[in-house]
Amino acid sequence: MKLVYLSLGSNRGDRLGHLLQALEMLTREGVPLRRVSSFYKTQPVGFASQPWFLNCVAEGETDLMPLRLLRTCQAVERQLGRRPGVCNGPRPIDIDILLYADAVLQSSALTIPHPRLGERRFVLVPLRDLAPQVRHPVTRQTVLEMLQQTEDRSQVVKFRPL
Ligand code: AMP
Repeated sequence: MKLVYLSLGSNRGDRLGHLLQALEMLTREGVPLRRVSSFYKTQPVGFASQPWFLNCVAEGETDLMPLRLLRTCQAVERQLGRRPGVCNGPRPIDIDILLYADAVLQSSALTIPHPRLGERRFVLVPLRDLAPQVRHPVTRQTVLEMLQQTEDRSQVVKFRPL
């Protein structure tokens, strides 16, 4: 079993519902989730004129190989209504593989660790909830160090549903 960290985000429709459904579907489809971070409302990065996202990070264990894990995440995205559209535009669900144990790999379909891991507070803040001391396998920086050093200044606010 490999320990994996996945980032989930939604900024269209029932954002919380999409995240909860995606977490359940991942567990059903071969990625049992052990822990989930708090949920955060996050300012869109890159394409500013779109709704804020709801984001979280999940820690899971899987026997799926990296590319199979990517295909599983993409199948969940499709089942929740994701269609190819504007790059970085509104989407019901986006699932990224952040870390896959200590694996380092780069192909046209998949880069692990996620190439923008250190550049996004909307990923690093929830990842810190679960794994502040986990190290990037290439730079050896911890998640906490990446968060302290990132130049991203976008807002990430804890989501309180009630
Ligand atoms: P996005 O629009 O953020 O969902 O990006 C999707 C594209 O990024 C897909 O075509 C994937 O093949 C590619 N990709 C590369 N590395 C990763 C990764 N670590 N996690 C998820 N998608 C990835």
